[in-house]
Amino acid sequence: MNARRKALAAALGALPLLLFAQSESPKVDYATIAKIREEGLQRSQVMDLAGYMADVLGPRLTLSEDMKRAQAWAKDKMAALGLENVAVEPFMDYGVSWDMEFFSLHMLEPDYQPMVGFPLAHTPGTNGPLTLPAVIVDVQAKSGLAAFKGKLKGQAVLASPPLAIDPNALNQPVNRYTDEDLRKIEETLPGPPRRPAIPPAPPNPDLLRPEEKMAFFKAEGALAVFQCEGGRPGAVRGFARPGTRDDKWSREATLASLPIIAVNPEHYNRMYRILRRSIPVKVRVEVRNRVGEKNEWASNVVGEIPGTDLKDGVVIVGAHFDTWHASPNASDDTAGCAVALEAARILKAVGAKPRRTIRVAFWGGEEQGIFGSREYVLRHFGDPKDPKNPPKPAYEKFSAYFNQDYGAGAFRGIHLQGNEHARRLFAAWAEPLRDLGFTAISAQSPGSTDHVSFDRAGLPGFQFIQDRIPWTAGHMNLDFFDTLQAEDLMKNAVIMAVFAWQAAQDEERVPRKTLK
Ligand SMILES: [Zn+2]
Repeated sequence: MNARRKALAAALGALPLLLFAQSESPKVDYATIAKIREEGLQRSQVMDLAGYMADVLGPRLTLSEDMKRAQAWAKDKMAALGLENVAVEPFMDYGVSWDMEFFSLHMLEPDYQPMVGFPLAHTPGTNGPLTLPAVIVDVQAKSGLAAFKGKLKGQAVLASPPLAIDPNALNQPVNRYTDEDLRKIEETLPGPPRRPAIPPAPPNPDLLRPEEKMAFFKAEGALAVFQCEGGRPGAVRGFARPGTRDDKWSREATLASLPIIAVNPEHYNRMYRILRRSIPVKVRVEVRNRVGEKNEWASNVVGEIPGTDLKDGVVIVGAHFDTWHASPNASDDTAGCAVALEAARILKAVGAKPRRTIRVAFWGGEEQGIFGSREYVLRHFGDPKDPKNPPKPAYEKFSAYFNQDYGAGAFRGIHLQGNEHARRLFAAWAEPLRDLGFTAISAQSPGSTDHVSFDRAGLPGFQFIQDRIPWTAGHMNLDFFDTLQAEDLMKNAVIMAVFAWQAAQDEERVPRKTLK
């Protein structure tokens, strides 16, 4: 073969391959991505949004007056940014509202010590300041209760063991994933299906459930309960009164409870050690909580950029707007809401007219059990496994949900959630984002947040791989705006906007786990 013929043959040989590659490569809209990057990286408003939510709105417990005020703000803000069909949408007949109004705790004897803490959600107040002797009741079994009968009247109970504090915990550097770490994440496969579970141990008849313990303290005439749940040096961790899910956040159960107070570990431990020396401890405590009069529905907030020729198909970006009540929970998940809203703002600012509808969702009820997104999915799309909520027409046309809720760190890639069919799309969309550090695609299926509601219903729902910023741990009283990193959130909003845009523009919806 002469050189000319050789070249021709090579070209002809390559032709089918070239056509194949062209028809199979996901389309990437570089022109719009350039505009998204420019708007999101040069004129970002994400820190202003996050700052307003964290500082001005503050903590947002599901179904609290705080949350209602914040949702009204979110609705107005979405509308002001040009989103349409904005709504505060009830998802669940929840219970009564609960808000913390005032808290103060001091050790008076044997030495004065102002103490840091906060009441658990859905507990009552103290009806004014109480000055009480403190007593240790570290009991984990029913059989242990008898020893305290008749001994708790008029006292404050220290109900949990003292907490060991790791002195190194204060000194955790921001530890971003290296290329090597990301490679390991990519190469960590989900592993074989779980082996059949070991049969559970027979129920222990002596096991004392937390709500039974609290009922005993109340019946014995104790007036307040202190506990220490861990967390970190200087930080208080606490959630809701035990039993709230069973009694459905009811007014009666809330008012029937004792005030239960989570205390900073150092302050709790100090009281505990003094009492162990048989030296009396006297405390002064005052709690005022606002408990709603009647049951109400909890809500999500949604708004959208309506689609054009494929407008009945939907792409959703979102995060949970509800938080625990002791801090604004800047990292959990205020930052995620700011990123999702900023992604929508960017798309509006660049004049994006998506083919599919791009919706922003601020979920409620995530911290109590991922309720807001789950109910939303059932109501709007349905679930083939749920006979009460069979798939609706919107189910077939739905494309994908993208979530941020693993802290406030930068997106470094995305988990496929067991959906290998999405790999090629995501790899193509990630390519123009490589310089933002967004490179990894993992086969893993992480859980514990709102994308799971979509995944459970058989719809594509995804959570990003995020750098871990150690101090910004949610669920504590020390999760504020200060630890949010502007560059991380700016990048995240750009990536969220690019994924939403690409999913909205693609000829096909994001494929599902089982191709049909
Ligand atoms: Zn969260």
